[in-house]
Amino acid sequence: MQRSFDRRNFLKLSAAGAAGGLLTSAGPLRAATPHVTSRTAGNEIIYRTLGKTGIKLPLVNLGFVRSDNPRIVNLALDMGMTLIDTAHGYNNGRNEEMLGQVLRNRDRDSYYLATRLRGNTEEQIMEAFDTSLGRLGLDYVDILGLHASASREHTLDETRLKAFSKIKEQGKARFLSVSTHSNEPEVIRAVADSGVYDVVFTAYNFRMEHFNEINEAIDYAAAAGTGIIAMKTMAGAYWDRERKDPINVKAALKYVFQNPNIHSSIPGVETFRELEENFEVNHNIGLTPDELRDLRLDQADTGMFCLGCEKCAGQCNSDLPVNDIMRSYMYAYGYRRTALARETMDTLEIDGDACAKCHPCNVTCSQGFNIAEKIRDIDRIRMVPREFLTG
Ligand code: SF4
Ligand code: SF4
Repeated sequence: MQRSFDRRNFLKLSAAGAAGGLLTSAGPLRAATPHVTSRTAGNEIIYRTLGKTGIKLPLVNLGFVRSDNPRIVNLALDMGMTLIDTAHGYNNGRNEEMLGQVLRNRDRDSYYLATRLRGNTEEQIMEAFDTSLGRLGLDYVDILGLHASASREHTLDETRLKAFSKIKEQGKARFLSVSTHSNEPEVIRAVADSGVYDVVFTAYNFRMEHFNEINEAIDYAAAAGTGIIAMKTMAGAYWDRERKDPINVKAALKYVFQNPNIHSSIPGVETFRELEENFEVNHNIGLTPDELRDLRLDQADTGMFCLGCEKCAGQCNSDLPVNDIMRSYMYAYGYRRTALARETMDTLEIDGDACAKCHPCNVTCSQGFNIAEKIRDIDRIRMVPREFLTG
């Protein structure tokens, strides 16, 4: 029987583990990790099976390459990562183009390529997908996804389901997915109920306040055969805006895999060093007491990571989507992905200068963020010419 996994239980287990030797190289919940198909005490890679797709993936794969550096992609593939994740909009399409250049020199059976896109009509989806295929230089992708869904309604929208199904029937996508970083539990359950989507990419990290709710939805989806891939595992990468206090990214990644139903992850990287550090987790998910301490699980400090708790919903005088704006803030100030931050802001269709004529701010954030100040900071990105933005 699978052991339930929530933050409180995990802290208790971890405390017991630290004292009783449970925090071994095999990890505190190793007894409950039936999906681990290959690992050793040495250097072999740990794989888990991506739900009903049957694909076996290393725990840690390659998300967005923030510097668009093809050498990082080559190194990741040489090391043994097999899933490369991108999106139609990343770096205004340049990320897919860069991957296309790298992948043309690789055996098509040696990697899995995932991309995702937005679109409201069948025509928009088809056109965006054809553009992505062209940039990638591929006849098909392994996982095609609906980008950033935040509701059951959006996930199960008939037009999108039809368009994605058509692409799969045409053999241009082997599997279909949805990504979510807001209202995740609802979206994860919708994916499992859809009968169309095979995989969900969900925000998932040690800082999420609705961790238990997400875990319950993940259990539900995994039981239905949905493949689960974790995103945003770094929780903003830094505790502070000045980027002087980095989050222990390796510990954060290990934490994610204490849940046996997280089948893989796609952390983004900027440097060889980050890539190598991430890759080490493919050999060992055991959290040491020091790593656990680094995660500050017993402290309220969330750094720059908006919990997505939606406790600010409906509070803003101007109906601003505060949590989406906070996500954009994290992209820019935490990850230095200014193009993605801008893209996120653009999708929100904010009229005029956000917060400019509003005082005092009506929004109380559960984490104590000064919402008006952060919004003013990030809103400036809409004025920056796109050619100055990266990542
Ligand atoms: S200051 Fe900004 S976030 Fe706060 S209530 Fe006004 S418009 Fe909304
Ligand atoms: S209340 Fe704060 S932490 Fe929660 S969603 Fe809103 S901005 Fe994010």
